[in-house]
Amino acid sequence: MRGAVLHAPRDIRVEQRDDPKITAPTDAVIRLAATCVCGSDLWPYRGIEPVDGPAPMGHEYVGIVEEVGSEVKTIKPGQFVIGSFFASDNTCEICRAGYQSSCVHRELIGALGAQAEHLRVPLADGTLVATPEVPSDDLVPSLLAASDVLGTGWFGAVAADVAPGKTVAVVGDGAVGLLAVLAAKQLGAERIIAMSRHEPRQKLAIEFGATDIVTERGDEGVAKIKELTGGLGAHSVIEAVGTQESMMQAIRSTRPGGHVGYVGVAHGVELPGQELFFSHVHLHGGPAPVRRFLPGLIDLIWNREIDPGKVFDLTLPLDQAAEGYRAMDERRAIKALLRP
Ligand SMILES: [Zn+2]
Repeated sequence: MRGAVLHAPRDIRVEQRDDPKITAPTDAVIRLAATCVCGSDLWPYRGIEPVDGPAPMGHEYVGIVEEVGSEVKTIKPGQFVIGSFFASDNTCEICRAGYQSSCVHRELIGALGAQAEHLRVPLADGTLVATPEVPSDDLVPSLLAASDVLGTGWFGAVAADVAPGKTVAVVGDGAVGLLAVLAAKQLGAERIIAMSRHEPRQKLAIEFGATDIVTERGDEGVAKIKELTGGLGAHSVIEAVGTQESMMQAIRSTRPGGHVGYVGVAHGVELPGQELFFSHVHLHGGPAPVRRFLPGLIDLIWNREIDPGKVFDLTLPLDQAAEGYRAMDERRAIKALLRP
């Protein structure tokens, strides 16, 4: 099969890879209907995370089940399924508490490489959620968004304790930040402040439910949020970048007693203990347990109540994955969908 492989920073190639096979009785193999490039794929692509030899890439996927192992009970060949970036059994104590991305048996999908024609999904019964039937083509991008960026933005909003009547600020205007806006809207936020300085992204944020746009960053961004919230800061702030600057911007934009939901993969973030102590801010975040939210998100998409697939502003054949990475790296595209 064909699949995207990162050989060195900025050297991504679509090449021949071994066809995945059932290796454990709990596996499924799916034929991908769509996959995409993640903002987090840009960390190794840019060389900020080390690239350890040729590495298959990709962890967002939707597709048709081709084959299942002998112990798979609920997932069946022919079903259209969505999974997330960690495979999980969905039965252990941590999964049952809603933290499937910390499942005691979790396996990282990224290592298996979902930017490909086929994918082996471990723990198929716990990981995959099937749609009611095979979806029409126009629903595929939104279902793919549920695999990571929508689920991650949603978790950011839940971790930030978004609720009706609250003022929410979102730091980061990538696909996750934009879908955190959508999530905040769905969860009933009264006011949603999107922090973005890019016009097409501001437009999409407003389409998803943002009521205010703040273009300033860092200390100026914090001052602007304070100004918009009577000097107090937002009740709920979603951090969707993962840098020191964005994390501090999120914490300082939150009012005492408020919540930060952080879902940007942290790189070089160090929190000052004393400032944190006196901030009175709740911090919660991490790799989103997307599996917790998948059934509900699939329902919303299936009933056409939300259209998160709008974050894909570039669609390419899988063979042009390198251009997808380049376009996202140069911020020419919000998110690139790849058609195997
Ligand atoms: Zn588990």
